Amino acid sequence: MKQITILSGKGGTGKTSITAALASLAKSVVFCDNDVDAADLHLLLHPKIEEKHTFKGAWVASIDPEKCTNCGICSENCRFDAIHFIDEQYAINAFQCEGCRLCERVCPVGAIQSEQSIKNHWFVSSTRFGKLVHAHMTPGEENSGKLVSVVRNKANSIANVEHSDYVINDGPPGIGCTVISSITGTDHVLMVIEPSLSGLHDAKRVIELVKSFNVDLSAIINKFDLNLELSQKIEDYLKEEKIPLLSKLPFNKKMVESMINGKTIVEYAPNSSISKEIKMVWEQLKR
Ligand code: SF4
Ligand code: SF4
Repeated sequence: MKQITILSGKGGTGKTSITAALASLAKSVVFCDNDVDAADLHLLLHPKIEEKHTFKGAWVASIDPEKCTNCGICSENCRFDAIHFIDEQYAINAFQCEGCRLCERVCPVGAIQSEQSIKNHWFVSSTRFGKLVHAHMTPGEENSGKLVSVVRNKANSIANVEHSDYVINDGPPGIGCTVISSITGTDHVLMVIEPSLSGLHDAKRVIELVKSFNVDLSAIINKFDLNLELSQKIEDYLKEEKIPLLSKLPFNKKMVESMINGKTIVEYAPNSSISKEIKMVWEQLKR
């Protein structure tokens, strides 16, 4: 079983529509939406949820005002400046608390307790193309990198049980801990780059990161004809970095229409030039 992770650096490059199009082509595959903060692969794959699990997130501390003697020791020791004296009472700002639980240990009267958030969930679903493992994080919640590891582990174990040939991960944007979790242990990263300054800048940062993990890379320039000059710059950069360019996909209105209709481009317009190009990408990826 091989794991392929699709990344872009920035959002809005068309990465998820390309991942969904590859989903239409891949046989014997498990899909995994690694963008746990803003999952959207389900919008095209229309999953039927079969399993729902709670993900225990970060610890958050709180003070029991009945027990607190206002000594201030916890506030002095909190390295994240999360404990404040407001209205003559010490209180913890949940958004600043990093869940290290030190305050719990230093409080002389045991007035502080921590609880793990249970507002986040992950799911195993069936789709018309195969199993999908995905998640939903509540805004402001922590530990998204850990949640990516959880969904990836589950996708891999399903693929092992079902003897699937591939796990395809739809990666998150940026270069944060969710992206690091998406790259770890994958066999190949496909970059989807759009011809814009931010597209190139963000893709470069992800490529540096992927290279530091020694993971095999290839790339697609999506909507290349929207800025030919920048597309050429991206092509030159990929050449310099010795990253194979699998395709330059043109902007195609059918891609937008397919999304409006909740289908992948390969389902919506199987004989279109863009579908044929994506089929070639999949063949190259398999090789
Ligand atoms: S758990 Fe850590 S970060 Fe949160 S309030 Fe206590 S000491 Fe500060
Ligand atoms: S250390 Fe305990 S008693 Fe002292 S201010 Fe903090 S919560 Fe209150």
